[in-house]
Amino acid sequence: MNSFDIIIIGAGHNSLTAAAWLAKAGKKVLVLEKRAVVGGSCIGNGDASDLAPFSSGFLRPDIIRHLGLTKFGLNPAPVAANLISLLPDSRQLVLSADPVKTAESIAQFSAADAAKWPDFVRFMDKAAAALESAYATPIPRLPKFSPVEGLPLAQLALKIRGLGARNMYAFIRLLPMSAKEFLDDWFESDALKAALASLGIYNANLGVMSAGSAYNLLHQYLIRGGWGQPTGNLPQVIAALESAAKSFGAEIRTSAEVARVTVENERASGVLLASGEQISAGLVLSSADPKRTFLSLVTPEPLDPEFVWAAQTIKMRGVTAVLGAQSAAPLPSGTLIVAPSLNYLERAYDAAKYGQISEKPYLEITTAGNALFIHFQFAPYFLKTGSWNADTRAKLESLTVETLESYLPNLKSKIQNLQSITPLDLETTFSLTEGDPHHGQLALDQFFFMRPIPGYASQKTPIAGLYLCGSGVHGGGGVSGIAGRNAARAVLKK
Ligand SMILES: Cc1cc2nc3c(=O)[nH]c(=O)nc-3n(C[C@H](O)[C@H](O)[C@H](O)COP(=O)(O)OP(=O)(O)OC[C@H]3O[C@@H](n4cnc5c(N)ncnc54)[C@H](O)[C@@H]3O)c2cc1C
Repeated sequence: MNSFDIIIIGAGHNSLTAAAWLAKAGKKVLVLEKRAVVGGSCIGNGDASDLAPFSSGFLRPDIIRHLGLTKFGLNPAPVAANLISLLPDSRQLVLSADPVKTAESIAQFSAADAAKWPDFVRFMDKAAAALESAYATPIPRLPKFSPVEGLPLAQLALKIRGLGARNMYAFIRLLPMSAKEFLDDWFESDALKAALASLGIYNANLGVMSAGSAYNLLHQYLIRGGWGQPTGNLPQVIAALESAAKSFGAEIRTSAEVARVTVENERASGVLLASGEQISAGLVLSSADPKRTFLSLVTPEPLDPEFVWAAQTIKMRGVTAVLGAQSAAPLPSGTLIVAPSLNYLERAYDAAKYGQISEKPYLEITTAGNALFIHFQFAPYFLKTGSWNADTRAKLESLTVETLESYLPNLKSKIQNLQSITPLDLETTFSLTEGDPHHGQLALDQFFFMRPIPGYASQKTPIAGLYLCGSGVHGGGGVSGIAGRNAARAVLKK
């Protein structure tokens, strides 16, 4: 039987970050991935029909520096694309990194909002930096923790205090607000508020009027590094992380599904593969989502029934579908959104509340050359009637094309090779339980001390030697590497 210091389940970007970090620290690391390719949700099947590479991804700068990822081919500073809101009257609102040009675009709708834009961006940058500090802070187990464990929390409180009284209150107040309420405090233009609020519902089972969508907005702003999506850099991110991990000595095996985490004397002792092979290790890190980890990869015996119940009730409830296509005609470049008004977005969400696919969906379209990558909401995993099958897929595709045609006239006849990934595909192909790309909703009752489970936000689990390192833990959700980095740090600290 082989033996390693650390086994990591899954080869998504968080696992690869953790693997490279731990291997660099001298640990003997084995990464086991069930799919034939590394990259997890960042990578499709690696063939011409690949859908995933157009989605977003910035690794946090400290991860790029620590792992020296530029030496492994990573562009250190990809730029977030412009966010272009397509409007029914053919006007476009363009939000870019250039505050002057953005203010000019906003002025089409409101001179007062254009004047406020620079202040708003300054606040968002400060608030995003505070959120990033929160994500880097190890969370102690409540209610009892030692003064040493409490020190990082005190440091975080000081950083938030350092925002200044006004911004500190604005930051704390923002988190539980709805995106609409938060933006109503700043702006008057509905078109502007809707474009910004779309980030608040991205991948979330929330409407723009739901509590917590302002937090989601800030989270997206942080991990995108701006308003739009950086285009097509995910294969580069994955390739650089894989090369770094291997160069530091980590071993990566694909087509190696873990059936179970083995537990001996109440401690994780290794894994049993679906092939029957058993591999032992001092520690096991899982990047499978928390629900999958605790309910499928671990037998219930070592877990407290209350903890099992808490794992069962983690809210996944995916509402995202993704589509890919080519256009025979040139496309505007950037991140295009169909989010014309706050009411439009709220109505799109209303459908999901009743288990229906939005007839008028919120779309985010990332373009790369003549390729389109389309993010569709709301397509609930749990449909009230029927299931995800050929008919519902056809409906999803037709609603997408019809909506696109309303906002990009004449595109319909030029669309080729349309393909779709339904929420069920997200589960079956990418192991995302209930099709939730974030491994657990980024909801108010599932963040900070409560992600993934109240009392277990520190990457540690009730099973000694078993850690979580994927998006479902504190700091995770989207492509940033934060969860993998935090897990590696927690392991090394131990
Ligand atoms: C098509 C698509 C588009 C997306 N677009 C965006 C976007 O634009 N913006 C954004 O922020 N996020 C997006 N996401 C979500 C984002 O990619 C994920 O949040 C993120 O990649 C999760 O990273 P991770 O490393 O934590 O986990 P994952 O990437 O999910 O990796 C987990 C890995 O574990 C493996 N695994 C699971 N169980 C086992 C097992 N038993 N044995 C071995 N291996 C196992 C899985 O196969 C997978 O490779 C998208 C996701 C998809 C699928």
